[in-house]
Amino acid sequence: MKFYKPTSLPDLFRIVNDIEGKKYYLAGGTDINVQIKKDMIKDEPVIFINHLNELRGIFEVEDKIIIGCLTSFKDLLESILIKKHLPYLQKSLNAFASPLLQAMASLGGNLANGSPTADLTPPLLVLDAKLKILSRSKMRIIPLAEFYRGYKQFNLKHNELIGAIIISKQAEAGYDCFHRKIGSRKALTIAKIGLAGLKKAENGIIKDIKLAAGSLNEYPRRLIKLEEYLVGKSIDSLNFTDIEEILQKEITPISDLRSDKEYRWQVTVNLLETFLKN
Ligand SMILES: Cc1cc2nc3c(=O)[nH]c(=O)nc-3n(C[C@H](O)[C@H](O)[C@H](O)COP(=O)(O)OP(=O)(O)OC[C@H]3O[C@@H](n4cnc5c(N)ncnc54)[C@H](O)[C@@H]3O)c2cc1C
Repeated sequence: MKFYKPTSLPDLFRIVNDIEGKKYYLAGGTDINVQIKKDMIKDEPVIFINHLNELRGIFEVEDKIIIGCLTSFKDLLESILIKKHLPYLQKSLNAFASPLLQAMASLGGNLANGSPTADLTPPLLVLDAKLKILSRSKMRIIPLAEFYRGYKQFNLKHNELIGAIIISKQAEAGYDCFHRKIGSRKALTIAKIGLAGLKKAENGIIKDIKLAAGSLNEYPRRLIKLEEYLVGKSIDSLNFTDIEEILQKEITPISDLRSDKEYRWQVTVNLLETFLKN
């Protein structure tokens, strides 16, 4: 296995451009080192990026918060800027792994590893986060919702990487915010279900709603059909038979070593009910 350690961002893109096929970036290493140890990655080149400080940090730029891909969960959980503008995002990530993992794991790595269970993706999806995708000669910005194309399939070319996450400072303003990570225990647990929601209601009528689920499909995603159905509905007279029928088209819970599909389904319905009725 070949490892590269670029000396700068331009050097990184030179290396990336020279490698034609599949390659990996080593950011915090908390996913990739496990995969290397288990021989799931054997021959593909691995490029260290963890030392490239241009890719780290949390910044306020006009009406947006920009978070570099190498920013750790710890940095985000301790950030005054995030606490001020995006407190819901900060609280949602409290249950990420353990303090040690929080210090090492990067936000970009959590998104790019492509796990259906990634803690960061559901809250970022309801906040309408965007990704800044970088390559040697080009920068493009895409909604996070357009990043995933299937299980570990991404809207990312061979010479690109996630540079930063972009969130509007107003993304949480005026919303009732909801987040639950359901696991087997409180600490160091992988989500059996992750549900994120933002809701605006006036006089008991839902005016705007955003819902995203993790661990219930091959990648975390927005529940668009359910959102469309719910807008304009009265909270006091929601029809949960209709809601379950639509939800069935949006999620595909499976049975695996962490849980079974019946449990995942029923808990998701219960969580939705809790969020919608409050
Ligand atoms: C004990 C343990 C507990 C864990 N608990 C949780 C948990 O509670 N919740 C959770 O969500 N996850 C958990 N994880 C998984 C992991 O810690 C996270 O997914 C973490 O955020 C990955 O980030 P990293 O920087 O370590 O990624 P790395 O391991 O460095 O990289 C992961 C993948 O992302 C790619 N990548 C990295 N950065 C970029 C980039 N900027 N652009 C494009 N591709 C990139 C790499 O090529 C690689 O494929 C746990 C892992 C372990 C080992």
